[in-house]
Amino acid sequence: MDIIINSLYSNKDIFLRELISNASDALDKIRFLSLTDKEVLGEGDNTKLDILMKLDKEKKILSIRDRGIGMTKEDLIKNLGTIAKSGTSAFVEKMQTGGDLNLIGQFGVGFYSVYLVADYVEVISKHNDDKQYVWESKADGSFAISEDTWNEPLGRGTEIRLHLRDEAKEYLEEDKLKELVKKYSEFINFPIYLWASKEVDVEVPSDEEESTDEEETSETSPSEEEETEEDASEKKPKTKTVKETTYDWEVLNDMKAVWLRNPKEVSEEEYTKFYHSLAKDFGDEKPLAWSHFTAEGDVEFKALLFVPPKAPHDLYESYYNTHKSNLKLYVRRVFISDEFDELLPKYLNFLKGLVDSDTLPLNVSREMLQQHSSLKTIKKKLIRKALDMIRRIADEDPDEFHNKDKKEKESEKNEKKGQYTKFWNEFGKSIKLGIIEDAHNRNRLAKLLRFESTKSDGKLASLDEYISRMKPGQKDIFYITGTSKEQLEKSPFLERLTKKNYEVIFFTDPVDEYLMQYLMDYEDKKFQNVSKEGLKLGKDSKLKDLKESFKELTNWWKDALSSENVDSVKISNRLDNTPCVVVTSKYGWSANMEKIMQSQTL
Ligand code: ADP
Ligand code: MG
Repeated sequence: MDIIINSLYSNKDIFLRELISNASDALDKIRFLSLTDKEVLGEGDNTKLDILMKLDKEKKILSIRDRGIGMTKEDLIKNLGTIAKSGTSAFVEKMQTGGDLNLIGQFGVGFYSVYLVADYVEVISKHNDDKQYVWESKADGSFAISEDTWNEPLGRGTEIRLHLRDEAKEYLEEDKLKELVKKYSEFINFPIYLWASKEVDVEVPSDEEESTDEEETSETSPSEEEETEEDASEKKPKTKTVKETTYDWEVLNDMKAVWLRNPKEVSEEEYTKFYHSLAKDFGDEKPLAWSHFTAEGDVEFKALLFVPPKAPHDLYESYYNTHKSNLKLYVRRVFISDEFDELLPKYLNFLKGLVDSDTLPLNVSREMLQQHSSLKTIKKKLIRKALDMIRRIADEDPDEFHNKDKKEKESEKNEKKGQYTKFWNEFGKSIKLGIIEDAHNRNRLAKLLRFESTKSDGKLASLDEYISRMKPGQKDIFYITGTSKEQLEKSPFLERLTKKNYEVIFFTDPVDEYLMQYLMDYEDKKFQNVSKEGLKLGKDSKLKDLKESFKELTNWWKDALSSENVDSVKISNRLDNTPCVVVTSKYGWSANMEKIMQSQTL
């Protein structure tokens, strides 16, 4: 707890958006349940799905309540009581190695940010299945729970009371709260209200002269009022205007459903802000790209996809065991789930975004929805759009929506320079996994592949660039695998190729070995591992004679090594200075693959 508090201290503001985001999640949950069971909402005020904030300046309490799903006693213990949740250690670890504090919401520890501003917190909660409870805790890591017999019944939902620290008095200012909601929570889908004060002018009878015609003055319209004031200098006023403070619920967000709007009318800033709230990533960085579109036809939906500026901390952890899609599914604006693995294939789970479908049924269980036939079509279109969006980063294309003039387009193109390198460093592995897993889009994904090569000059190159540099008569795309570029550059396998000015791709990621088992060809060109059998470097008239004259030697050598150790001993033209080299058979594992497999079994 101390670590969390200290690491976030300069960022106190975040507590509010974390609490609002939790309230919004809780509201989403009850609304989802109500789709199949209207009863869960209850009646009267309970049916209002909103978030209410109130200040008590004297007692220094800020309270935030929602009419969401609420928490049972067990939920309170499980969700708030255990600081040792899995996300906590992951978060703490990240923070200690200089991670980005703005990402706290992604670790499932957002609630604890309340202790940045409060030294004592009460959580009052009522779930339909349980009585009302109070959870309370000081910032010391211990907590108490008791049945609530003294507070007003909530009906349903949760109220969080923050007893603010002295250093956090600023959060007792209405303006501060308004500012924070505007900044971080504008896109919350439920109304956020503040019990806000308003100065109003009220007419009261003047003290100097008791009004005789009170009724008439209180009915004066604004224009007549002015006259009265003008007259005031001459005549004695019958009434006077005083300022009075009244309170009322003021709505702070405008609940824009950005994705329902016309892309042409959404500004870049709005997309960026929406991305921040959607991804719970409140850093300063813009998403690398986005795609906002409407699919029409038998399956209709709107979608908004983003490529984040950075990969989440656990993107490739246990990739093969879990599937965490980051898309939110809505059906006609109602949030259904963010755990819908059917929307995107695994390799694209680094994307953030949402899908809002008109075709899917609202009133069925999640399980039934998961099997709905439209999902396949949605998935197909999403993949297509996602790959297009990534290609646009690579091509440094200006965004697709706004009608910009030439100059604006130029400057945007400049801004996009180098973005793909950034993308590649963060998500390149996902593209490779895609080539392995998605046979249908393999070629599209191969276009997005980047690598260094003997001719890339320290930069990243694409297969298209490789092909454009191929020598006349060169049929295959040459590559070599290993642990680092530096190691590979010294490889005897390259001697002859470099001398003859052939380009060779360096593949140095362990996943590359698997990748190349799936990527057989590109644009009718075959891939050739230069450390494997089958390397052809054009015609060599001397080769045949050489083979003949050294036949005795090669036969002797083959016998000496025995067929258990080698398949064959051959004369070849692949070397230059090195006298001989061990080559892998066409379908065998390369030396690098042997190494990878060995390290995995150890
Ligand atoms: P996260 O929201 O990422 O799960 P938090 O630390 O913000 O992590 O919240 C922890 C958990 O506490 C939530 O997952 C939720 O189950 C529960 N919770 C927090 N606030 C509320 C609330 N207002 N209503 C219902 N449950 C809540
Ligand atoms: Mg949260």
